[in-house]
Amino acid sequence: MNKLVKPEGAYPAIIGGERVFTAQSIEVIDPATGKAFATVARCGAQEVDLAVAAARRAFSTWRLTTAAERGRLLSRFAQVITQHADELAALESRDTGKPLRQAKVDVAFSVRYFEYYSNMVEAVFGSVIPAATDRFTFTTREAYGVTGHIIPWNYPLGIASRTLAPALAAGNCCVLKPAEQAPLSSVRLAELALEAGFPAGVLNVVPGLGAEAGADLSGHTGIDHVSFTGSVPVGRKIAEAAAGNLIPAALELGGKSPNIVLADADLDVVTPVVASAILQNAGQTCSAGARLLVHRDVHTELVSRLKDIFASTTIGAGNTDPDLGPVISALQHQRVSELVEIGRDEAELIHGGGRPAGAAYEEGYFFEPTLFDHVAPQAAIAQREIFGPVLTVTPFGDLEEAVAIANGTDYGLVAGVWTRNIGRANWMIRELHCGQVMVNTFSNGVELPFGGRKKSGYGVEKGYDALLAFTHVKGAVVMMSKD
Ligand code: NAP
Ligand code: MG
Repeated sequence: MNKLVKPEGAYPAIIGGERVFTAQSIEVIDPATGKAFATVARCGAQEVDLAVAAARRAFSTWRLTTAAERGRLLSRFAQVITQHADELAALESRDTGKPLRQAKVDVAFSVRYFEYYSNMVEAVFGSVIPAATDRFTFTTREAYGVTGHIIPWNYPLGIASRTLAPALAAGNCCVLKPAEQAPLSSVRLAELALEAGFPAGVLNVVPGLGAEAGADLSGHTGIDHVSFTGSVPVGRKIAEAAAGNLIPAALELGGKSPNIVLADADLDVVTPVVASAILQNAGQTCSAGARLLVHRDVHTELVSRLKDIFASTTIGAGNTDPDLGPVISALQHQRVSELVEIGRDEAELIHGGGRPAGAAYEEGYFFEPTLFDHVAPQAAIAQREIFGPVLTVTPFGDLEEAVAIANGTDYGLVAGVWTRNIGRANWMIRELHCGQVMVNTFSNGVELPFGGRKKSGYGVEKGYDALLAFTHVKGAVVMMSKD
């Protein structure tokens, strides 16, 4: 047990700069043991009302701050997060089950989001438009006002920072609803924002259940924009709620992203990256490389190498820093198990397939690294987002076939392409129907715009585009006069 999180530890909501404890609370579960180790506030309509009102009040002065002032605060926030990096990583690892070193990377990403947008915020400006000569015609960029943010449990700190940093930099005041399964780092983030000097009400956090605080926030008439990351069915509800209030929504809904390995790829480079693209965070990554499409000339060799990596993967509680931690919950374990059972009838199971053997794995939500080969493109395990450490392998013969398979799901988030042929790489970049393509790598930074096609959602995260997306444009025209 880490020293930060006491068994009796109760985490509040953060509303208008105050720590708010609610009459009812939610137990926060350690996925490695299945046991509660903390509690968190369970907000409802009343707390969400208070948070939206606090954000609205804060906005009346926050909107008049300069970009330079907001940039300095974001920069100070990045420093405060850095000072608490070990604490945050331990908390995130305990709450989500992810290996400690991966939680440390998430903290570094969090810092980077605030640093990046602190640098960039002064580069947001309008333009002067050459229209009629008797008037001055120009645009400015303005914050929306109060923005709602609903995030999932897989990368709580990373996704909270991804969505909050550009929103705050652009001059919005935020209300964040973290997932009930992993809410603690969001609460700590809001406490640290106060420590960094953010005025009360600029960043509020209302932990609670999706059907309560989540629905209350996304349907609230006092918000001007809503950002959501999570599942397709809930994304649809968020879009409906936003439509009801005629506000914009940005939806990031996951994917079934392919890694596409051409015959000329360097397998020494490919193999570890393809493995970590699905084993990182136990496969619970919206942009996980969940499907391996591999040219038939190198198919047997690559599958054999992957099997070796999967077989040598260490499994354990996140804070013991294994290669692979548990999945988030009993429900997620069940979802993964059910799809893997379907997969056994559809394809060839090469490795894994269930809970690892041994007493150490009986209580937590552990699932073996699982590898299926000869998976038909239309198989359920090749079409549905499993959100577990399960990789499907599908061989292909030529590039057109590879692209057809890659594009042949309901999703379109990211794709990895592995080849040393620049022309083929560029052709694939053009033909792949997704928001981001990575060639000879499967990592992206905070700088590259990221967002889905099809059922992966709409809107943009990361990069300059995400900052602009948290503003709207105002046009102004002023008549000239000599008097
Ligand atoms: P989810 O239900 O979509 O949860 C995402 C967030 O939405 C959570 O904060 C959740 O709150 C909230 N929420 C739930 N119902 C809501 C409602 N009616 N109104 C407003 N907010 C609501 O995701 P999940 O059930 O945890 O995971 C299910 C599947 O979604 C996964 O198996 C995976 O396929 C996919 N997923 C994708 C991503 C991604 O990064 N794109 C992330 C997570 C999950 P509570 O958690 O407190 O209920
Ligand atoms: Mg948890």
